[in-house]
Amino acid sequence: MAKHHRALGLATAPFSDAIAVVQATQPVQPVTLVRPHAASRAARFFVEKFPGRSMYAVKANPSPELLHILWDSGITHYDVASIGEVRLVARELPEATLCFMHPVKAEEAIAEAYFTHGVRTFSLDTIEELEKIVRATKAADDLTLCVRIRVSSDLSKLSLASKFGAGPGETKELLFAARQAADALGICFHVGSQAMSPDAYAQAMERVRLAIVEAAVTVDVVDVGGGFPSAYPGMEPPPLERYFETIHRAFESLPISYSAELWAEPGRALCAEYSSLIVRVEKRRGDELYINDGAYGALFDAAHVGWRFPVTLLREPESRARDIGFSFYGPTCDDLDHMAGPFDLPADIVAGDYVEVGMLGAYGCAMRTAFNGFGTDALIVVEDEPMASLYGADEDEADSGNVVQLGARR
Ligand SMILES: *Cc1c(COP(=O)(O)O)cnc(C)c1O
Repeated sequence: MAKHHRALGLATAPFSDAIAVVQATQPVQPVTLVRPHAASRAARFFVEKFPGRSMYAVKANPSPELLHILWDSGITHYDVASIGEVRLVARELPEATLCFMHPVKAEEAIAEAYFTHGVRTFSLDTIEELEKIVRATKAADDLTLCVRIRVSSDLSKLSLASKFGAGPGETKELLFAARQAADALGICFHVGSQAMSPDAYAQAMERVRLAIVEAAVTVDVVDVGGGFPSAYPGMEPPPLERYFETIHRAFESLPISYSAELWAEPGRALCAEYSSLIVRVEKRRGDELYINDGAYGALFDAAHVGWRFPVTLLREPESRARDIGFSFYGPTCDDLDHMAGPFDLPADIVAGDYVEVGMLGAYGCAMRTAFNGFGTDALIVVEDEPMASLYGADEDEADSGNVVQLGARR
């Protein structure tokens, strides 16, 4: 733990929880809370239990502190999607292996990744992209090329099915051409983010099987992408072990060589539990709360895709009022800065109260902007458990009874 606090550059001791932060600082701006122990636990879970290699999808949360925590917990490979992410991870973790898994890249980005940063693994979903990679790397003979195939997003909360991926009529030619250019050939896909059932992977693996049989090529890598879920209100997925079992079973039955590798690219699952946010209620209008962060801050998904993050009123003594459903307005002057929720909070909440919004480590704190003059970098380490966890408590913490589920914390 001490190491993480140094990595975070914090001189002060961590706080026990959000209430302690509010009591000590009465923050006027939103404050990001981070839980290094939760990110570390998620990483160790994937490293130990996923039946292949887990690489972290950096876009879910590119904070340097988090990258170091994941590295220290055994994550050695990183899925990067832009030259900015390549440079960031190369700078922060010089020994990490980077895989450039965005299927549409600038040729200049491919060249810099290959020649300056040692990237050897690239994904693609068209012949044009394959030609770009070959040109930009000067027909290198040490490439791992992963052909991204299109699969259904039907069992996931956020679709990734329409933008990328070769369709059934295109994969044969593409796999064949990539095989000629590659030292190692992979097939990858993404079932969509927050996949609520392991069946999503079983169905996608069936598509992989058909593509391999049809193209009759030797495949060295099968990469099942991201999509591993976290827990949010109304979205409580089955245990991650069930996903791993389903994937393992499907992988074992593929017509691939005995030495083929299985990869995954978890983003959300590795970092959702890492962060939460303290916001202050500036105004109440009926069941609408005007808070000091929103769509342009860490709550993009709450506004734009109606994501329901868990919330807790930070008041002591605890309110005894029953919960009712609130919606939120963010601080900017823009009507879009609205979060429908519903967010369940005690009915007696008033302006001046503080609220903790949980499970914001993935696609939350990473998406913040300074639009309209709002936004903040304040970051504080806390030691309590995230509002929900798919990983249970560490064994050495088990005596604190800290296996938490949504809504059970306080
Ligand atoms: C976004 C993304 C991921 C991570 O997805 P999660 O749903 O956060 O796990 C992995 N791979 C690729 C190619 C992505 O675009």
